[in-house]
Amino acid sequence: RPVVAIVGRPNVGKSTIFNRIIGDRLAIVEDMPGVTRDRLYGRGEWLDHQFSVIDTGGIEIDGDDEMLKSIRVQAELAIEEADVIVFMVDGKAGVTPADSEVAELLFRSKKPVVLAVNKIDNIRRTDDIYEFYSLGFGTPYGISGSHGTGIGDLLDEVVEHFPSSKEDEYGEEVIRVALIGRPNVGKSSLVNTILGEERVIVSNVAGTTRDAIDTPFEKDGQKYVVIDTAGMRKRGKVYENTEKYSVMRAMKAIERADVVLVLINGEEGIIEQDKHIAGYAHEAGKAAVFVVNKWDVVEKDEKTMQQFTQKIRDHFLFMTYAPILFLSAKTKQRVHKLLPVVNQVAEQHALRIQTHVLNDVISDAVAINPPPTDKGRRLRINYATQVSVKPPTFVFFVNDPELMHFSYERYLENKVRAAFGFEGTPIRFFTRKKSD
Ligand code: GDP
Repeated sequence: RPVVAIVGRPNVGKSTIFNRIIGDRLAIVEDMPGVTRDRLYGRGEWLDHQFSVIDTGGIEIDGDDEMLKSIRVQAELAIEEADVIVFMVDGKAGVTPADSEVAELLFRSKKPVVLAVNKIDNIRRTDDIYEFYSLGFGTPYGISGSHGTGIGDLLDEVVEHFPSSKEDEYGEEVIRVALIGRPNVGKSSLVNTILGEERVIVSNVAGTTRDAIDTPFEKDGQKYVVIDTAGMRKRGKVYENTEKYSVMRAMKAIERADVVLVLINGEEGIIEQDKHIAGYAHEAGKAAVFVVNKWDVVEKDEKTMQQFTQKIRDHFLFMTYAPILFLSAKTKQRVHKLLPVVNQVAEQHALRIQTHVLNDVISDAVAINPPPTDKGRRLRINYATQVSVKPPTFVFFVNDPELMHFSYERYLENKVRAAFGFEGTPIRFFTRKKSD
């Protein structure tokens, strides 16, 4: 999935545009308890393109000259990670020295840059955009974050620059695993422990994706790739210690993975960033496993594991499907259980249910608990079918999609899970009007 970064000095309206682009997806996610409102990334869709969006604003760096510094860091971050950069300026303010500073950095990057002139709130302001040609990025696109105008044209231009989708680098039979979690949670240690296990064959083939280093290996006849292990090792640049950077890095690894291992520090507990990242894996439709590491140093009695499990369930209400594993990368305790769980969730992620079997389950569910009426009208489900895997995605053909309420959808999801499992994977439901 291509990554679009929005870059610009403070107050040009980056967050407003970010919210406009991710649109109602945000609303859906915010309904899920445990997902915070302060978001750095989102998923956008335009025409038939799906992409990730990053709002790089708000990185805080200490020192003099703070604004310029943080702008520089932001721009570097975007340059490193994005496929297309939206450079945003303020049409009311005109070209400022900070804009020129950003322009220079972006220019040197040689990445595609689309220039968006925000706050063009009415047609009389369109003259204001001409001076921005001077920044050297071609046609400036006039937009208005507050009115939502011009964004379609901007996105038309953005998607033009997307790299043509590369074919799968590793093939269908390989399980691509991403380990994510805050620094020092033990990602590298766990990778090393897995690779050091008996009968693991590590291949020397380096990852083929630009600036990612993947580690392919094989165990018991199953092939795996640990996605982006370079991101775990590489440290040093200023922005690499910012939360935004690690989230962005994680996000890209998640996009390329089938199974996401969400590492939690057993010693220190769950933090906000764990939620951001887990929420992203969920939205991205990836299989997921919670891995509580450093379990060796946790003081335990017979209830500790159960209490920790409950804590995870309370914090990640939207991911009750993900299994939880307690282990120690250091002492290797229970590490041997990890790959079997990965195999299991990967299989569920790719599970396909035959239409007639699915519809039997749905009819039974509807018979036991019919949809409630809404203003005298009742949802009628004609039939359902699974349209894709990874994640399993179902379409329900109904009399009126408006009548499918969240709680009833939840009920159906529970029934489908009870019948077929789908442990470790999100599943998606869509409703369509049955055309007659
Ligand atoms: P990363 O930043 O997530 O890759 O974390 P590292 O793998 O570099 O580990 C950070 C620190 O935690 C190192 O000092 C490890 O030795 C230590 N560590 C990792 N896993 C465990 C574990 O299971 N138990 C204990 N006690 N320490 C661990």
